[in-house]
Parts: sequence; structure tokens; C-alpha cells
Amino acid sequence: MNNHDIILRYLSATGAKKFVPRAALIDMDGTLYDSMPNHATAWHTLATEIGIPTTREEFFLYEGATGAYTLCRLFNRAFGRDATPDEIKRLYKRKTELFAAQPAVGLMPGAMRLLEFFKQAGTERIVVTGSGQDTVISRLTTDFPGLIYADKIITARDVTKGKPDPEPYLMGMKLAGVSPAEAIVIENAPLGVMAGHRSGAFTVGVTTGPIPRAEMEKAGADIVYDSMEQCAAEMPALFSEMSSVTLK
Ligand code: MG
Repeated sequence: MNNHDIILRYLSATGAKKFVPRAALIDMDGTLYDSMPNHATAWHTLATEIGIPTTREEFFLYEGATGAYTLCRLFNRAFGRDATPDEIKRLYKRKTELFAAQPAVGLMPGAMRLLEFFKQAGTERIVVTGSGQDTVISRLTTDFPGLIYADKIITARDVTKGKPDPEPYLMGMKLAGVSPAEAIVIENAPLGVMAGHRSGAFTVGVTTGPIPRAEMEKAGADIVYDSMEQCAAEMPALFSEMSSVTLK
């Protein structure tokens, strides 16, 4: 499907007459940073420590969710119950230690270029992350100077529900003062794509890890790119098409 038809399909589905990208709501892990391999290793090690059999790969599927969501999911499978608030606190702290003990994560190739394009296009940038890892969150403003601001970040601490609930993206829109037909979501995880889609924003899925693009489409992605580099390269054409497509 070409850009024109993709935008038309979005407009028909949402009832919006036109899509005007005033704000980009951008996920952090696996989108701005190549941090997912470290997260998967930390989760897999934690699960092994508490005697829950897992594969390292499955944690790529839970990406975007809060730590509590992931822990309850593992607990239900292994023990048939949710983790208690105390267990969540203790185990998430341990997961944070295991994550911090690994080598520092690098920027995702293409992320800087995409943010620079948004800035030049007059599109505000809001980071919307399910993460509560201060080691990474605190780097955002120095790693992306002039592109990301400290008061334009929604983290796990700001939300009650977390992805796949639309709440984090709705909060991002509120922070930017935009409506769903003025917000473009950039996500690399199916749960995050689901959250973006449910929020009513135009949702871009980017496959930066082992998750196949079909999972992104199933989760409701309006368009899927194979890398952040491709996303950055093709965004100007998508934006220029957006300005010309109007639903009659
Ligand atoms: Mg992500």
C-alpha cells in the first residue's frame, strides 16, 4: 500500500478529515536506544533466579509493558497468581540492578536523524516510555540535545495502566496539547503499537528486533518500517503526503 492509501485508510477508520502531525510521541527502548537485548538478558536472568522457566526471546514480546505487567504475567504462568505489590517492588529492583550491571546501551541508528526531521518540520517531540530505568531516562536530554526536553517525557511513573493501554500516549497528547489526528506514534513493540493504535494516533511500527512485521500489523500499526534508518529516510515523504490527503 502506498503512503496516500495508508493515510486515507487511517482517516476513514478514525473519521478525521485530515492528519496534521503536530506532535511525535516516541517510544524509548528499542526505538531511540538499542536497549532491548540488555532488557531481555536482565529479565531472563531474574526469572531464572526465582525459578520461572523462560526464553530470552519472549521478553521482546512483553516490551513496552510496565515491570509489574511482565512480573504478573510470569507469576500467573508459573504460580497461577499475580505477584504481590511487595514482590513487584523487590523483583523490579533486582531487574533494575541486573540491567544496570550490563554495558551501556547505544543510540539506535537512525533515531537522531528522525528526531532532527521532526524538529525541522515543527513537530514537537514527546518521549513515551514504559520504562522506569533512570540510567537510560536521564541520558535522553544529553544524548539528543535540543531534540528531547526533560519536561517532555512520560515514564512508567506517570501512568497508572501502561502499554498496551492507551493511557501513556493519551498523556503524551495532553502534554503536547494535541488531538489524536495531530499525533504520530513511533513504536518498536507490538504492545506499544497496540497502545498507540488505541489512542487514535497515526501509529508507526518499526521492527528493530526479532519481532516480525506481521505482529506490528496485527497490533494495529498504520505503517511498518524495517529499521529506524528506513523510518527516518521515508518520514519526509509520508509527511508531505499527509498535508495533501483530505477525507471528503
Ligand atoms: Mg520499545
